[in-house]
Amino acid sequence: MSKIYDVIILGAGPAGLTAGIYAGRNQLSTLIIEQGQDGGQIALTADIENYPGQSLIGETGISLAERMAEQAVSFGVERVSDAIDNVELNGGVKALRGKRGIYHAKTVILATGAFPKPIGCKGEAEFIGSGVSYCATCDGAFFQDLEVYVVGGGDSAVEEAMFLTRYARKVTIIHRRDALRASKIVQERAFANPKIEFLWDTVVEELKGEGTLNAMVVKNVKTGELTEIHADEKDGMFGVFGFIGFSPRTDLFKDQLTLENGYIVTDENMNTNLPGVYAVGDVRKKKLRQVVTAAADGAIAAMEANEYLQSLE
Ligand code: NAP
Repeated sequence: MSKIYDVIILGAGPAGLTAGIYAGRNQLSTLIIEQGQDGGQIALTADIENYPGQSLIGETGISLAERMAEQAVSFGVERVSDAIDNVELNGGVKALRGKRGIYHAKTVILATGAFPKPIGCKGEAEFIGSGVSYCATCDGAFFQDLEVYVVGGGDSAVEEAMFLTRYARKVTIIHRRDALRASKIVQERAFANPKIEFLWDTVVEELKGEGTLNAMVVKNVKTGELTEIHADEKDGMFGVFGFIGFSPRTDLFKDQLTLENGYIVTDENMNTNLPGVYAVGDVRKKKLRQVVTAAADGAIAAMEANEYLQSLE
């Protein structure tokens, strides 16, 4: 059997990285496993203005995550890049099997986060990467001087629509109701932005084009009326960004942990239904999903794991 860590943290978003900082400071042997880029959802966003102390000029979600990761490593936390495809969370020693190896630990902190929900319209899958995106910071620059449509009415949709006005000539928010869900301050900024327009009570039915996205059918949900929108002739294409919420990444655990609507159920100390297994951040059932609550979850879980490990001695 490979090394048995005190703690393995699965996922390197703010929740997982904070758990790493706290576990490392408690001198627990700790491994963080991440399959992609550090930061989780904050890696998809350019501005974070509601994390306390977050006022560094030029700071992005990615640079904040980088500093969190450096802080964890400075406390002796080990890192590995691997995609885990099987977990055994029962028993005193938990096992996580990845493409590069099998990892063992006495406790596991699950911080696998969530992924963007698809818009759910006809033609969507066909245009991913050639007109359809779920990440404004990743793909916004491809739409320099073009028209862009943003689907959704929550904080993500409205904030990312504002970010997209840096590049796009015009950004139209398509929302299924006539009132936004986004917080008031975000709404006010969007209403004041001359580059942002709104298509209320509207859903996207179909995305069209040959190779590139250049037309879509939208439906007014109140009247049932269908309208076909075409790209400006000289543009030849437009962008559609989907921000209609997220789905938790819990497929790997669904047979072992208690879930509700797909989210892992924990108590207030991040304990799942299995001893020594904790869930933190956006993957767990809770009301407020923010960087600050993710970080708090991570800290609590690491301290809880520490106590659990002491009880084993
Ligand atoms: P969200 O708050 O769940 O909003 C999703 C939006 O998409 C809603 O407006 C919803 O419409 C719409 N929608 C959902 N399903 C749809 C469908 N099938 N077709 C069309 N529209 C659909 O998701 P989010 O904006 O990604 O935010 C997730 C969480 O992160 C929230 O708690 C949010 O406050 C937080 N967040 C915070 C910040 C920040 O604090 N700066 C930034 C980003 C996200 P309805 O309104 O009609 O339900």
